[in-house]
Amino acid sequence: MTQEPTSQLPQTRSPQKYAPMTTAHLPPRPAAAVIAALAAELQALDPQLELIGPACDPCSQAAPVPLNTELARLSRDYFDYSPLLLPLLRGRLADLAVRARSLEQVLLVAGACARHRVPLTLRGAGTGNYGQCVPLCGGLVLDLSQLRQLRQLDPDTGVVEVEAGCGLAALDRQLAPHGRAIRLAPSSYRTATVGGFIAGGSGGIGSLRWGFLRDPGNLLGLELVTLEPEPQLLRLDAAASAPINHAYGTNGIITALRLPTVEAVAWRQLLVGFNDWSAALVAAQTLMASALELNALALLEADLVPAMPWPPGSPAPLAGQHRLLLLASAAALEVLPALLRAKGGELLWAWPEGQGKGLPLSEFTWNHVTLHWRGQHPDWTYLQLLLPQPEAPCLEALRRRWGPDLLWHLEAVRSGGMARLAALPLLRWQGPELLDELIDHCRQLGAVIFNPHAITVEEGGLGVVDADQVAAKAAYDPAGLLNPGKLRGWLER
Ligand SMILES: Cc1cc2nc3c(=O)[nH]c(=O)nc-3n(C[C@H](O)[C@H](O)[C@H](O)COP(=O)(O)OP(=O)(O)OC[C@H]3O[C@@H](n4cnc5c(N)ncnc54)[C@H](O)[C@@H]3O)c2cc1C
Repeated sequence: MTQEPTSQLPQTRSPQKYAPMTTAHLPPRPAAAVIAALAAELQALDPQLELIGPACDPCSQAAPVPLNTELARLSRDYFDYSPLLLPLLRGRLADLAVRARSLEQVLLVAGACARHRVPLTLRGAGTGNYGQCVPLCGGLVLDLSQLRQLRQLDPDTGVVEVEAGCGLAALDRQLAPHGRAIRLAPSSYRTATVGGFIAGGSGGIGSLRWGFLRDPGNLLGLELVTLEPEPQLLRLDAAASAPINHAYGTNGIITALRLPTVEAVAWRQLLVGFNDWSAALVAAQTLMASALELNALALLEADLVPAMPWPPGSPAPLAGQHRLLLLASAAALEVLPALLRAKGGELLWAWPEGQGKGLPLSEFTWNHVTLHWRGQHPDWTYLQLLLPQPEAPCLEALRRRWGPDLLWHLEAVRSGGMARLAALPLLRWQGPELLDELIDHCRQLGAVIFNPHAITVEEGGLGVVDADQVAAKAAYDPAGLLNPGKLRGWLER
């Protein structure tokens, strides 16, 4: 999910409803001889470079790549949450992958790909949901997950400079001794990389306080490698970095990032039960607008609750009971139990973050709810939207039309400076026509859709072309080789 447009992005074209994107317009994948020449050049330039794929073995080039190989694994992400993306993306494999271990190796790969005109798709941990790092036209996948050094932590400002492949949890572990923590994290925090989060994610845990990743202030600068025969290594300030933020790696290779950090808080994880959905919604709205220190607030409707793998020792789900999930500070806990009771809720369980057995509470939020539900109900999918205010009439109208085929999972966020509710409802899959009908229905009711069933930056966001993103691609990837097919504004320019 992305945020609404900010004043930093003034050159956006007006929204329009795009026809569903197909891959029919894409350039042909490179010939085997081109890939073999690229692999040979890379190996000659740096014999230590880790190359993965059949192009490294001239004898195996004619054979199709089996789906269980490392090359196949490096060519996919979690697009299978979408029954529309699955047939479009399944089996689209890179011809070659490289696992870079240094900045010099990134520069070397960028230059060689540009010279051989081979498409280059970047990859962090590969946890994206929309096929962001699936190489639509083959070519080379560059795995940046080994570029993971924390270069600097400014003790006065708390600003960090960190390499793109550093895991978010690994970064937090290094910040903890200094009493600092990252502001925002996806629920895939334990796996995802910093660079992949900025390039492919949008927000998550912490969005209630800090908004979305593209909100000014959440990204302070980037180190970027361009895709040119002689690649440049650039350092961009916050303003120049904005078009690279959430561009799916289509307009530059991020090698390091400057990010603000916050004072670390020992969050308490709370489970709250509500027998009445309207009361739970009012409680959520009250807490979002309060002065209580909260880092996450998620609301799961009762039917979803039994499918979640709750931590051992936590109370068993009760039929018909909705669950409100909170990450709250110790100070907030002084007020919360009475406040929740007054709103019709019951504090079921509280345990400190980072302690106890089982999954952390953050893995019962955002797309982890989708993950757990689909684990038991693989014939379901999901949608992402920002609810209009007031939320209740929209939710009621959708419930009247869609009934038990649409199960509600809400997340509190700050959008445009306002406390808002986002939703990632689970949807029983009944075909593309009904999905379109649901999307239209949500829009009629005033919701903003972030379509997780589309492959372009624009459709996954607000449906608008960001001219700054396209201009950045022209400047940093003039031949259009980075992650082809994912930036609609480039294809339509
Ligand atoms: C269960 C589950 C829960 C999730 N929850 C959330 C959530 O709460 N919030 C959220 O925003 N997302 C969420 N996601 C999506 C995804 O996990 C996150 O966005 C994550 O931060 C992506 O990081 P990654 O390292 O896996 O990136 P990847 O998937 O490897 O890459 C993502 C995109 O960034 C590009 N990219 C990667 N590295 C670079 C680089 N160095 N330079 C330029 N481009 C690059 C890739 O080409 C790709 O387009 C979830 C996904 C799953 C499966």
